[in-house]
Amino acid sequence: MTTVQHWIAGELTDAGSTRTAPVYNPATGQVAAEVLLADAADVDRAVDAAWEAFPGWSQTSLSARAKIMFAFRELLNAHAPELAEVITDQHGKVLSDALGEVQRGLEVVEFACGIPSLLKGDYSDQVSTGVDTFSFREPLGVCAGITPFNFPAMVPMWMFPVAIACGNTFVLKPSERDPSASLLIADLWKRAGLPDGVFNVVHGDKVAVDAILDSPRVAAVSFVGSTPIARYIHERASANGKRVQALGGAKNHAIVMPDADVDFAADHLSAAAFGSAGERCMAISAAVAVGSAADRVVEAVADRARAVKVGSGRDAASEMGPVVTREAQQRILGLIDSGEKQGAAIAVDGRELVVPGYEDGFFVGPTVIDKVTAEMDIYTQEIFGPVLSVVRTDDVDEAIALINANPYGNGTAIFTSSGEAARRFQRGVDVGMIGINVPIPVPMAFYSFGGWKDSLFGDKHVHGPEGVSFYTRAKVVTARWPHVDHASEASFHFPTSK
Ligand code: NAD
Repeated sequence: MTTVQHWIAGELTDAGSTRTAPVYNPATGQVAAEVLLADAADVDRAVDAAWEAFPGWSQTSLSARAKIMFAFRELLNAHAPELAEVITDQHGKVLSDALGEVQRGLEVVEFACGIPSLLKGDYSDQVSTGVDTFSFREPLGVCAGITPFNFPAMVPMWMFPVAIACGNTFVLKPSERDPSASLLIADLWKRAGLPDGVFNVVHGDKVAVDAILDSPRVAAVSFVGSTPIARYIHERASANGKRVQALGGAKNHAIVMPDADVDFAADHLSAAAFGSAGERCMAISAAVAVGSAADRVVEAVADRARAVKVGSGRDAASEMGPVVTREAQQRILGLIDSGEKQGAAIAVDGRELVVPGYEDGFFVGPTVIDKVTAEMDIYTQEIFGPVLSVVRTDDVDEAIALINANPYGNGTAIFTSSGEAARRFQRGVDVGMIGINVPIPVPMAFYSFGGWKDSLFGDKHVHGPEGVSFYTRAKVVTARWPHVDHASEASFHFPTSK
């Protein structure tokens, strides 16, 4: 049995707590490894390493930091297929999807390679006679990332490339369900020339997370995961005086207008609902069919749902893999049951799916549920599985009101050929990321990613300009170099410019 270890100060270590959790291969349903679960002393050792590395790293020149970022980018690109295999074996998603996640993480590294430009300050000459003002940003210190199972490479890479490029050191606490991708990444950092201690990984559960939140030497916490935990992280880290951004769960709606190209919408809806078995924070889980679009949309999406090839993520023919754990599978099946009991119409039923050769795998087949209402559990709860609910509304305003009444506000989309409807939608929805005929509107790395309402606690979105802002703080310098012959002009009234 392989034991997944921590990575502290540039090397693997299994010293400390011997508590472990099983890591499954979701396709076979078998335990594939065990992962160490850190206690507070293990977290302290990782924070110590990051603390000790900070003075050296934060004083490393921008060009030297950028060189290491470029070297890391090259290594990551070269090792993308290997990383994708590690992700597939512990998460379950198909290899092409795992490669896509690595690519989106790589794009954040590429963004961070531009750190010399991103950290340029402002300069104002002669703000008062003989006085200049300029500003620049400095790193915070030790930053921590606590990340979910569903993107074991990409979500951590929303955080640490930007944090490290800005001159911070980092402690990552990845999901204990699929912990190994982070260790491959740690090794690539070392090979890229990153000094030991700048990037550390501690594995664990609530015990490790609480130790991070309570550590006085951690300056900032970035979290991505479910809403109840995001709220908790935000409260506890804020109470301990840390800067914190905590991204939560989602219920993403896609409106389909009667004027939409139904085949185009159905192709994209099924990819957005069933890709990665629906375990994406930007997955579409509710289609809002407006007026006469409804019957046509349900029929077209149902056809596509029945055609999805479900199998092991390692099988090149598979389009969709299993969900992450037996508990996740049972929770999703239970929610489909509840939808049926509460009066929704099951148009495509994935409950009985068995994949030959993988009978013990954690599979749920693509499921389409029609006539879902806002009161049903299947609508109010985040399903995080391959289930598309269809809610019917009379017009676009009713559809927008439905979206705005939902507590989440991560992503949303509209399928339409009407610019007027699209504009009304983009201006009217209380959601952070909006797609127009684009169902998964994940912003590129040079924009920032984040939702509204219960999908984000804190002020700053991740990566892009807001990421740089989150991981740095500003200094503004007002400077005068008086000539020996000048009068000092000191005065007791508040300084004003001349
Ligand atoms: P999760 O909240 O269970 O776990 C996330 C992290 O928190 C993990 O590292 C876990 O170890 C830790 N954790 C779990 N329980 C904890 C507790 N009681 N106290 C302290 N820490 C705890 O989430 P998950 O199941 O790994 O991931 C799926 C969730 O993440 C979904 O809700 C999904 O929408 C969300 N997500 C959101 C985004 C986004 O951008 N908003 C992106 C990806 C995933």
